[in-house]
Amino acid sequence: MSERIDGVEVVECTRCPALCDARSQIVNGVGTTTPPILFVGEAPGATEDREGEPFVGRSGTVLNEALRNRGLARRDVRITNCVRCRPPENRDPHTDELANCREHLEREIDGVDPTVIVTLGRVPSEHLLERDVTVTNEAGDVIERRIGGEPRRIVICVHPAATLYDRSQEETFASAIDTAVSLVGGDVGGQARLGDF
Ligand code: SF4
Repeated sequence: MSERIDGVEVVECTRCPALCDARSQIVNGVGTTTPPILFVGEAPGATEDREGEPFVGRSGTVLNEALRNRGLARRDVRITNCVRCRPPENRDPHTDELANCREHLEREIDGVDPTVIVTLGRVPSEHLLERDVTVTNEAGDVIERRIGGEPRRIVICVHPAATLYDRSQEETFASAIDTAVSLVGGDVGGQARLGDF
């Protein structure tokens, strides 16, 4: 198994054979290294795999707009995934793959020390909370959980793509984002602003 880590970035990793076969590249987290909010998604999709950045497809557009509406740019926050390599056919990551990549995610969380973590969708919510989560019912809930070495505040949120397929989820998504922003309060000042997109 070959592996190379640079800070919170995974440069080389072959822990998951099926994902290594399917990926174009490893997709690390992006954004500030001192984030008030860390968004955690499930896994790279086709666009993310091609461009090497999380949430750059249609879901990324929804997330960007939600940030922009609250006076934030992508680089004011940090965005990452539970697994850093694209699963074939866009399937969910398998349990062993989530476990394999957990160390990388925890290293990133410990390294960037976010004030709040927002889980985007069922997979990251269940992965970080280590229980079943009904995201549509629990979105906006704030839960304290020890991750790695530290207690963390987690806000459950629906996946941005849910708002594209079900308009009724727009308010649920927006409300959860508002909760996260209100938790960090003025902790976003002095960083990048509009125009950085
Ligand atoms: S998903 Fe994570 S653990 Fe698996 S090969 Fe990619 S970087 Fe390594």
